[in-house]
Amino acid sequence: MTPADRLAEKRRRAYMEADCRQHGSCCLCQHRVTTAEAVHCRGQPERQRGMCADDGQSPRFAFDDTTLQRYP
Ligand SMILES: [Zn+2]
Repeated sequence: MTPADRLAEKRRRAYMEADCRQHGSCCLCQHRVTTAEAVHCRGQPERQRGMCADDGQSPRFAFDDTTLQRYP
């Protein structure tokens, strides 16, 4: 890994963390849907901000690789 790669990686992570703070980990989930700016689980508008990661119900949080492409 070159220093430039490392820097890019660091920046990407910072963007991701900012998104998570704002929307919860649902914004990185394969099951997410966005309604009126709110990121939530598909079919469950009140399930937001990463509730799927720890409420034990399905669909359970699943990391979505394609979210990484949103970050420069
Ligand atoms: Zn979710």
